[in-house]
Order: sequence, then C-alpha cells, then structure tokens
Amino acid sequence: EQQIVLAERPEGRPTRETFRYESIELNAPDAGQVLLETLYISVDPYMRGRMNDARSYSQPFELGAPVQGGVVAKVIESRSDALKEGDIVVGMLDWATKLVVDAKTVRKIDASLAPVSTALGVLGMTGMTAYFGLLDIGNPQPGETVVVSAAAGAVGSIVGQIAKIKGARVVGIAGSDEKTTYLKEELGFDEVINYKTEDVGEALDRACPSGVDVYFENVGGEIGDAVIDRLNPFARIPVCGAISGYNEKENIGPRVQSKLIASRARMQGFLVGDYGKRFKEAAEQLGEWVSAGELKYEETIFEGFDNVPDAFLGLFDGSNTGKLLVKL
Ligand code: NDP
Repeated sequence: EQQIVLAERPEGRPTRETFRYESIELNAPDAGQVLLETLYISVDPYMRGRMNDARSYSQPFELGAPVQGGVVAKVIESRSDALKEGDIVVGMLDWATKLVVDAKTVRKIDASLAPVSTALGVLGMTGMTAYFGLLDIGNPQPGETVVVSAAAGAVGSIVGQIAKIKGARVVGIAGSDEKTTYLKEELGFDEVINYKTEDVGEALDRACPSGVDVYFENVGGEIGDAVIDRLNPFARIPVCGAISGYNEKENIGPRVQSKLIASRARMQGFLVGDYGKRFKEAAEQLGEWVSAGELKYEETIFEGFDNVPDAFLGLFDGSNTGKLLVKL
C-alpha cells in the first residue's frame, strides 16, 4: 500500500515535487479500529495553507508526514461495534490507498441516499460552506443581486443555485467560456463573466445595473476589488476564500476601509467548521434540493492514486467544474 507525504514546503505554486509517495505496511486493526480502503480523495484549496509553516486556523502539515484531507472509504475489516465490513465512511484522513483508523474518527454515510462521492461535495464540506456562508452571512433577499467568484467551482456553483432558490438575481465570475456557458445554461445563472477574457469592472457594470447586494468572495485579488467597487448600501460580503493569493508570499490586499464606510457594507470571514452544530440541518436541506432537482452538482474526477498531486495542482489552473475529486 502507499501514502503521500509532504516532501517540501512549497514556495509559491506547489509542484509534483511538493509530494512524495511512500510504501506503507499496515498492522491489523486493534480493538475499536477499522481497516479502510480509500474510494475518493477530495483535493481542496485550503490545503495549500496547511503546506506553509505558519499558524492559521488549521495546523500546518508536518514535513515528511502524510497529507490529510477529506476521504470517502470502505470498511474492509472492523474491530468496532459501530462499523461493519462494507460500510462507507467519510473523514479527515491520510492520503493513502488503505489505512487503519479508530472507528470514532470517521462518520458512516448512507450510500442509499446519494452517490457516496457527494459526501465530499454538495452534501459535504463544500455544500455546507455554500449554504452557511450565503444564507447566514450573505442573507440574499428576493430581487437582490448576488455576485459569486470561482462560480463554477465546488462552493461557487452551489452558492449561485441557492441564491436563485432564494429569488435573487445571480451573476457568476469564472475562468473559461465552457464554465460560463455551463453556469448560464445548466445552472440558470442570470449573468456570467469570464474574467480571463473580459474586463471584470466593465462586465460587472453591464451585469449589475443596480449594483451588488451580496458578494460571495472566493478569490480575492483584482476580482474582489472590482466587485467591492460596486456595492450597494448595506451589502454583505461573506469572505469564504481568496484563492488568487494562496500561492503569493505577500498579502495583496484589498484595502477596503473607505469603501466599506461609504457603502456601510459588512464583510465577514467565516469557517464552515464553526457551523458544526447545524450540519444536520444543512445536509437535510441540501439533500432535499438535490432530490427535487432544484440543486445540480457537477464533479470533475481524476482517476487513480498516482494522480492525486496533479488533481490538487489543477485547482490553481481551474481544471475543475464543480467538485474536484480523485477516484481510486
Ligand atoms: P473550487 O472548486 O472553486 O476550485 C478552485 C477554483 O478557483 C478553480 O477551479 C478556478 O476556477 C478558481 N481559481 C483558481 N485560481 C484562481 C485565481 N488566481 N483567480 C481566480 N480564480 C481562481 O474550490 P472550492 O469550491 O473547494 O473552494 C472555493 C473557495 O472557497 C476557495 O477559496 C476555498 O479556499 C474556499 N473555502 C472556504 C471554506 C471556509 O470554511 N471558509 C471551506 C471551503 C472552501 P476558474 O477557472 O474560474 O479560475
């Protein structure tokens, strides 16, 4: 069996050399433990922050230790009363082909409800992020204009659709014509902007003639600057992510104080993990919307454990529409 460890702390953009494959020998599970076979590995932008040796909201990965992230796995041997052979579980686990863990570190998922990969996407961390960030902080009202960046990604594509369900007008910003076409034609976004081929400020003026009421921030940088220049009074900005700066050494802004004063807008960072007590509510609501066909989700799947690093690097090239996953 194999695992992937952090080989070096990347300067700027990570590369394949950031990661190293190692062979592992697994012990048989002890009492309370299970042997798992990995089915899906989630690659997520926040993991880039954990590769730096810097204090943040989550602990840095240790050099030479396995990279960890969201994983869906199958129980192939159990010495726990809580799980039996064949059960499917989700957890924050090492990037490995197989592993032995305490049963209480994973959560069983109901494979009859939805494809199990959704536990890492629309019905998992990224769906919850969209749900809480948009509804709790953005609080979109019918007829308001909601702008979302990284709109065709895992979080952004769900944000835009929930905003539509709530009766808002939705404008999505993404990095290719395939993505903007998908947002408009498949997901029903009202307006779309390709930030790689259009001037974002001009495009926003056209797409948001009555200004911006909610900006769901996923990318920061110049895109964030352009949207923040067009806020309506009392606009809300859930600050979910700032991926355009994750590979930069310097914090590249924005400087927003006077803009926030003029618009009386509220900009608030959040972490999905803070909503743990309400995960059940979100999972039920998201599940209902998915079953009713009101909420669509896409997955971009890389095949094979060999391709986990390339999948992760792909997040920074925009190689995904919807949730980026690796299937083993
Ligand atoms: P995505 O599926 O959206 O993948 C990342 C996307 O970001 C890419 O597909 C790419 O799309 C876009 N992107 C990459 N580099 C840039 C850039 N320089 N400028 C603009 N866009 C870029 O990932 P997630 O949905 O998982 O995450 C989206 C954001 O939400 C991230 O910032 C992430 O850190 C954050 N997040 C925050 C959480 C929280 O609790 N606060 C929890 C989960 C995620 P394109 O082709 O459009 O460029």
